[in-house]
Amino acid sequence: MNLDHWIAGKAYAPASAQYLDNVDPKTGQRIGGIAQGTAADVDAALAAAEAAPKLAVADRVQLLHALADEVEGRIEEFAEAEARDSGKTLQACLQVDVPRSLDNLRFFAAAVQREETACHQMEDGLNYTLRQALGTVVTITPWNFPLHLFTWKLAPAIAMGNAVVAKPSEVTPSTATMMAAAFTKVGAPAGLLNVVHGLGADVGESLCTDPRVKAISFTGSTATGKHIAGQASPLLKKVSLELGGKNPSLLFADADLDVAVPGVARAAFLNTGQICLCGSRLLVERSCYDEVVDRLVQEAEAGDWTPGETMGSLVSADHRDKVTSYMALAKEEGGTILCGGGPVGPPAGAYFAPTVITDLPISCRTATEEIFGPVVTVHPFDHEDEALAMANHVPYGLGASVWTQNLTRAHRLAAALESGMVWINTWNKRDYRVPFGGMKQSGLGREGGRYALEFYSQDRNICIQL
Ligand code: NAD
Repeated sequence: MNLDHWIAGKAYAPASAQYLDNVDPKTGQRIGGIAQGTAADVDAALAAAEAAPKLAVADRVQLLHALADEVEGRIEEFAEAEARDSGKTLQACLQVDVPRSLDNLRFFAAAVQREETACHQMEDGLNYTLRQALGTVVTITPWNFPLHLFTWKLAPAIAMGNAVVAKPSEVTPSTATMMAAAFTKVGAPAGLLNVVHGLGADVGESLCTDPRVKAISFTGSTATGKHIAGQASPLLKKVSLELGGKNPSLLFADADLDVAVPGVARAAFLNTGQICLCGSRLLVERSCYDEVVDRLVQEAEAGDWTPGETMGSLVSADHRDKVTSYMALAKEEGGTILCGGGPVGPPAGAYFAPTVITDLPISCRTATEEIFGPVVTVHPFDHEDEALAMANHVPYGLGASVWTQNLTRAHRLAAALESGMVWINTWNKRDYRVPFGGMKQSGLGREGGRYALEFYSQDRNICIQL
């Protein structure tokens, strides 16, 4: 079956009449075709977005709730499509990916109703702030959480009164179109949400350079993010960039190892290691290093991370080959692979075994580049200062976790770690209100809560002479 764009409230065949292959990474089988978008399709989507009616906030709120209810009623259908595109387990899609997407819709529908703006009084004047929509905004999303990241951007953009043109990853396109069709079904006016499929180099470029686009919200790799920033900045578009990571987990000898070791294993292997926040560098205090490494290998082999059962595949055969190439590199760089270390299961599938690597220098490529698979490198340290220096050593700065019972140390490290998010004795615990985003090469701007509502709007000051 071919998947078309969704433009102006209906399925829209690509002007190119060309379709890319959509492949199930668990089997290597072709699922169907994906519309290969070009500048002509982007033009149609932007025209539809510009023509979409402006809705009152109550109508936007009602539509977001109606969309959530509609998708919830068809949760199996959405979860199956997400699992087929991405290689995730159906269970993960049913329990995490789709429910989180519904939460995004409902959270921002509620949040926009609590929006407030300021009033600044003067002796003889009064200022008030008008917060208004930007107009047409673009969202560009990756393949690791297709529906969750799509809705994480869509919901605040719609809540604030914008029209959206979304460009999902060409690797995981299905649920974005399903969501757009569902939005139309529950009453969203034509053009409020448009989805254009295709390659980043074609569709993405046309979107990012079009003057009708007022803002671009991008989640993906640092290289693509920098490219988009370079295109958008001369046109003075608003840009939000959520990029890559090589996140440290810092584990001290005073941590409760019964909690900490499963915690750092989860940080390393969840979603087959394909989370921007994954703790792919584990720094361990030397006095407990041997015990932690032993326990970590046991965790990796114990059953929570079994490819094809409790852990999904990687997103594609190409990505599996990329992750595999790092195993040879790790050996060249002096690493010892204690478990995993390569693909598993049928050759056509993109399954990869959870992998623990030791003995690598902290500054080698394996320990500093984003591998984006179920691979963790483990490094000993002697002092807190050394751990901090190792943690901050990489150009990325997205997430970090600190495992210790010494809260004074935890606060000290939290302030000093160059990382947009720090978790203490936990990892990836999320509250939708908190600022989400990276430092250094991990991004620009913040998503979540009021940060997202502010991104998708502009504040204007009105001053009255009294
Ligand atoms: P990617 O950068 O290759 O692609 C992301 C999206 O950008 C896709 O839709 C792609 O088609 C599009 N794109 C590619 N080239 C483009 C261009 N020139 N112009 C416009 N759009 C273009 O990333 P990916 O491989 O899909 O995703 C994995 C990456 O995403 C990892 O680096 C991961 O860390 C990052 N990520 C970051 C976060 C975060 O919140 N910081 C969350 C999830 C994933």
